[in-house]
Amino acid sequence: MSTALITGGSRGIGREICAAFARAGYDVAFTYTKDEAGARETVRRIQEAGAGALAFRCDVSDAAAVRAMFGQIFGLSVLVNNAGIAFYGDMQSTTPDILRRLFAVNVEGAFYCMREAIGKFLARGEGSIVNVASVWGETGGSCEVGYSASKAALIGLTKAAAKELGPSDIRVNCVSPGMVDTDMTACLSAEAKAEFCSALPPARAGTPAEVAEAVLFLAKQRFMTGEVLRVNGGCLI
Ligand code: NAD
Repeated sequence: MSTALITGGSRGIGREICAAFARAGYDVAFTYTKDEAGARETVRRIQEAGAGALAFRCDVSDAAAVRAMFGQIFGLSVLVNNAGIAFYGDMQSTTPDILRRLFAVNVEGAFYCMREAIGKFLARGEGSIVNVASVWGETGGSCEVGYSASKAALIGLTKAAAKELGPSDIRVNCVSPGMVDTDMTACLSAEAKAEFCSALPPARAGTPAEVAEAVLFLAKQRFMTGEVLRVNGGCLI
């Protein structure tokens, strides 16, 4: 059996990715930062699907902690860099600390996990990495400048790594979600969400399960790499 590691699996999109991989026959390891109850619920969802579950309390922005975690993971064939944080506010309120933290989690965290996964994939002879970016990383989002820049960097990291690792049969792709109903977007007002969603062809936000389906597809697809797969309800048509 092969193992998939999903970062940020204690809730939202990450939890649904864990469940989707468990149903697809993978053992699932995932990270969380603080939410023990959320992590227990994700373990329950993974085991309910008949798969093995491993939960790691690990801040992905801590390179040493990431390295220690990878030392305890065996049979790794897929890495999903889903952990992410957002900041809503104009540029004047985006302090250097906020900007640094956005990049530390959304970019450096993914980089550290990729760097550790690569060694395991090279030993195995293949592997697949899926990074969870955002439509704002493609188009830029007003009042989400730091977040948008970090997700644009994640897309750049994905493409460069795909070129570098392709000859070693390691594929690297991105899923780029639009508005998805999770705790991350819970702070937006109902009016702001409704206004955004009414301009989309399906006139609704996406679900975590819809993003998870796309992540699983990309993880398994063997002739796609360096791709940015949009799951955004037609936001960019
Ligand atoms: P969420 O806030 O509900 O969950 C984020 C997860 O990341 C949590 O499990 C959290 O514990 C984990 N996490 C945060 N910081 C971490 C750290 N330093 N180390 C390890 N784990 C950490 O968010 P979500 O909506 O489920 O988003 C998941 C991913 O999808 C994020 O990368 C986000 O940027 C991206 N995304 C979300 C939306 C949306 O509308 N919800 C849209 C586009 C992209």
